[in-house]
Parts: sequence; structure tokens; C-alpha cells
Amino acid sequence: MNLSVSKRAARTVQSEIRVMSIECEKVKGINLAQGVCDTEVPEAVREGAKRAIDGGINSYTRADGLAEIRQAIAEKMRRFNGIECDPETEVIVSAGSTGSFYAACLSLLNPGDEVILFEPYYGYHLNTLIAVDAVPVFVTLQAPNWDFTSEALERAASPRTRGIVLNSPANPSGKIFTKQELEWIAAFAQKHDLFVFTDEIYEYFIYEGRHISPATLPGMWERTITISGYSKTFSITGWRIGYTIADRKWSKAMSFFNDLVYVCAPAPLQVGVAQGILKLPESFYQHISRDYVKKRDLLCGTLKEVGLTPSVPKGAYYVLADASILPGRTSKEKSMFLLRETGVASVAGSAFFSGSGGENLLRFCFAKTDEELAQACRKLSVLTEKISQQKTLSHVR
Ligand code: PLP
Repeated sequence: MNLSVSKRAARTVQSEIRVMSIECEKVKGINLAQGVCDTEVPEAVREGAKRAIDGGINSYTRADGLAEIRQAIAEKMRRFNGIECDPETEVIVSAGSTGSFYAACLSLLNPGDEVILFEPYYGYHLNTLIAVDAVPVFVTLQAPNWDFTSEALERAASPRTRGIVLNSPANPSGKIFTKQELEWIAAFAQKHDLFVFTDEIYEYFIYEGRHISPATLPGMWERTITISGYSKTFSITGWRIGYTIADRKWSKAMSFFNDLVYVCAPAPLQVGVAQGILKLPESFYQHISRDYVKKRDLLCGTLKEVGLTPSVPKGAYYVLADASILPGRTSKEKSMFLLRETGVASVAGSAFFSGSGGENLLRFCFAKTDEELAQACRKLSVLTEKISQQKTLSHVR
């Protein structure tokens, strides 16, 4: 047999985050590797979905979603993001923001197009670009503040550059792009005539600074593809409800690919999310930041105590911590040591960098219930002792 997987499949690998979740399950550890968000789903969302199922909303919907959720999202975009969009032609509901990004790339990028990606990056952004035969070009954010310069952006540009991916607040760094940085990116995108793909899934998870949607900057609406969803905000990662906001020039093609790959997002769950958007008060969203900043501070405090110095995130719900003190040549070995010795799973920093930039980093997720996070912190606190035991053992050997 001469059959083999496609060249495309050979180029992609299983997400390191999933790999660590499997390792964690084997030792019945606490999974701070995956952003699974096991906090409670708001009642309005749950009840809305249940009523939709009982009320017979169980068939295919329009490829871009039910009118109820498109209208609810358009109103939220106006109120929260400051973006005016037409719910009939400029909102596409998809299978999570992952589906939104994939449909956007399929419809707007050609094979060989270069797309700028900031690193540390979110692995799905990288792999989606690779899957559609685009060519990622990296701009490295500099720790500990994850800064970049407009000169670094310019150096990444070529005549083949077609787009730039933004993720603010960012996974895994927790960076919130400042107004000035977004203005550099806007000027750069206009100068080189680029699409800006902006993943704003953590828009409500803000601890310092404020969320700015790039589409609101002068001259940016037409070229900006705004992507977000409710996996994180409503703790419904398994529901697969995300959306794209884009000028009607692009939305038709995106809707076509959304139909081709997913047909539509799950019908009753679209209703549940729409009900959540319509019914939940402003205070619900304010509580997200207030609750998560406590989780951030608990985890960062513990990491600091045990010598895994954290780069304290300004948003999202991940921490990159300096793992130099852990034994192991690679970040993967360091994360396996940590899991074995403390029962806490993290993700190797190498999963977020194209080169060796992440080998001394581990990523921890704090989207956990308070009890589980406290338990993880207790487990982590034995680390200092475990490291000195390890040192003694290696001396004896
Ligand atoms: N974008 C980023 C930056 C993420 O971190 C994640 C999940 O971890 C997603 C998208 C996935 O979102 P969704 O569940 O809407 O596909």
C-alpha cells in the first residue's frame, strides 16, 4: 500500500495541551493544563437551551445562525465593543471561535500567504494557518511584559504578507495590547493592506487595562475580522458557540465555509447563549474579572513561593511561569517532573514558541473552581521539598 496521510496532516501534531490532559488523567492529577473552565454555567443560559430543546429547536439553522442570537450578538457588539454591525449580514455564528477562525482563514487566505503571528502564540492559531497552507511569520513578544516594537513588525512584513493575527487578552501570556500597540498594528495593516484577524475570546477577563476591539480604530472596520465566543464567558467550552463579525464584503464567503465545514452551530445551544446575552445583567460580566483576579492572585502567589516566578497576566486566565529551577532539559521534561512530583499538570512552554523561547516556561490555567485551585496550590507547595530530594538523590547517584 502506498497510501499515507496528507502532507497537511503530516505537518500538524496533536495539541500539547490535550497530551498533558491525558497524562494528568493517568495519574489522577489536577489539570491546570487545559482551559476547561469548570465554573458554573449561568442559569439563564442553561434554561434557555433546555427550553429550546423541549420547544423543538433541534434542526439545522441558517449557516450563520438563528436571528435571535445574531441580533443579541450585534447588540452586545454595539454596547460592549463599540462596533455597529448588521445582524442580518455581518454576524456569523459558528462552532466556537475555533470554527470562526477556521472559516475565516479558508475564505480569506490563499496558499502561500504569509500571516504574522505573535509568539508566544495560541497553538490553534498556528495550526489553523498551517492547515490552510498559509505561512506563519513570527514576531516574538519580549518577557516579562510581552512587549514588541513597531520596527519588529516591519521586519516581519514581505510582499506576500496578507494578514496578522491578534489575540487580546492573550493566551498564553495574558497580555492586553495597549491602545498604542493597536494603533501601530492598525497603521501597519493599512500600509501593507492586510487583514487583521482578532481573537477576543477573553474580552471579559481583564485585570489591568481595558479591552479595545481593533475594528473600532479609525479605518480598521473593513479589514478587521473580529472573532469571539461564549465558551469562556459562560463556561460552556463543550457547547461550541462562537461568532465572527466582519464587513459584508467578506461575510458571505465565511458563511459559505461555515456551512461547508460545520453546517451550523448547535441549534438549541444558540438559543441558550442568546438568552444569556439578553438576560444577564452588566454585573455578571464585572464579576468575571473580580472572581478571576482572585484566582490569578492565589495561583501567582503560590508559584512565586515555590520558585516558579510567574509573569503576572493582565487578562485571560493563564500564567506563564519561569521553570528554570525544575530538573529537565526541556520544558516538556520539566512539566512531566512537576506532574509526577506534585500531581499538577501544566503545559510545556515549547508549545507556544516556534523556536526554543519557551523551554524554561510552563503555562498554568486558573479557570478552576476555587476549591480545585486551592487544592492545586496545596499540591504545588511541596515542590521545594521535592526539588531538594531530587538534588540529594542525584548527588548520591
Ligand atoms: N482562542 C483562544 C485564544 C483560546 O485560548 C481558546 C481556548 O482555549 C479558543 C480560542 C477556543 O475557543 P472556542 O471554544 O470558542 O473555540
